[in-house]
Amino acid sequence: MNKVYNFSAGPAVLPKPVLQKVQQELLDYEDTGMSVMELSHRSLPFQGIIDDAEALLRDLLSIPDNYHVIFMQGGASLQFSMIPLNLLEAGGTADYIVTGSWSKKAVKEAEKTGNVNILKADDLTSPIPSYSRTDFSENARYVHITSNNTIEGTRYRDYPDTGDIPLIADMSSHILSERLDVSKFGLIYAGAQKNLGPSGVTVAIVREDLVGEAPAHCPSLLDYGTYVKHGSLFNTPPTFSIYVLKLVLQWVKENGGVEGMEERNKEKADHLYSYIDQSNLFDNPVCMENRSLMNIPFTTNDDALNAKFLKEAGNSGFHFLKGHRSVGGMRASLYNAMEPSGVEALVEFMKDFERRHF
Ligand SMILES: *Cc1c(COP(=O)(O)O)cnc(C)c1O
Repeated sequence: MNKVYNFSAGPAVLPKPVLQKVQQELLDYEDTGMSVMELSHRSLPFQGIIDDAEALLRDLLSIPDNYHVIFMQGGASLQFSMIPLNLLEAGGTADYIVTGSWSKKAVKEAEKTGNVNILKADDLTSPIPSYSRTDFSENARYVHITSNNTIEGTRYRDYPDTGDIPLIADMSSHILSERLDVSKFGLIYAGAQKNLGPSGVTVAIVREDLVGEAPAHCPSLLDYGTYVKHGSLFNTPPTFSIYVLKLVLQWVKENGGVEGMEERNKEKADHLYSYIDQSNLFDNPVCMENRSLMNIPFTTNDDALNAKFLKEAGNSGFHFLKGHRSVGGMRASLYNAMEPSGVEALVEFMKDFERRHF
């Protein structure tokens, strides 16, 4: 088989050494004679896996002691509901900065629970404004942002200064991609299937004071307190996904940690943006200061040519480059696990396409 490059926005490429390790120990996990998939979540070997996963994440992001790390199901989308159910039901207002499709979906769920105040720029490709305390509602319970906009290809450069209001961020598509000061946030969450592992597990990093705020009628599985109290083992967690997540975190650590990832991600993104910016055929619509390192949309000015590009790319081993249906064109997702050689090969392919079509 020819070399295949996976530019999917998610589920996405995983580090090859991680997949090899999974394969190698799939039938016999650490001399148990059983597959990880067959282990009880109450067993010592699985407790070791979930403990290691948490310890690795704490280490990689220098998570302060007054934060809990929890593992849940339901994807980032369930967090859109869980956050207001825990923090907004009792009353007050939540401020949501809308910078793309995922923020809009978060708003839609929050509005089912409480009062939402929306802040947004006119145009999703123009700079994300810088916000400070006075921009937010006086009584805001929290401010919610999407720190990397997977579909639009933008990210925050400077996070809003929310003062005394907890800042909550959906980091699904760029957690562990660059340095992060966790202490600036009240709650960070991410579905795993972009930068952390396979689908099925969602990670949240929650400051202590935001746990235990859910009203009594909140279902147990939607209450952060339940996960904290039971070490994410109130009911059966997605054991296999947590195991692969642990291996991905180990891989990040062995490859320079978050700093190493950031350096490599900046080089990869630079390489693609530099080519696009001088290309006569391809264009990236996003303002310079908010360009994502992870999701890079690009397009020609001709739908038929976009379709031709995608077809030829697929035939040459460059997969899942189709842009989200809401924006069209193309999108290359360059998550941590995307090798620099994959980006170099893509740019060479684009150059060749441009020579033939411009
Ligand atoms: C993919 C994505 C989601 C949705 O994740 P699910 O796990 O499918 O619910 C939410 N937010 C962002 C920023 C995403 O990239």
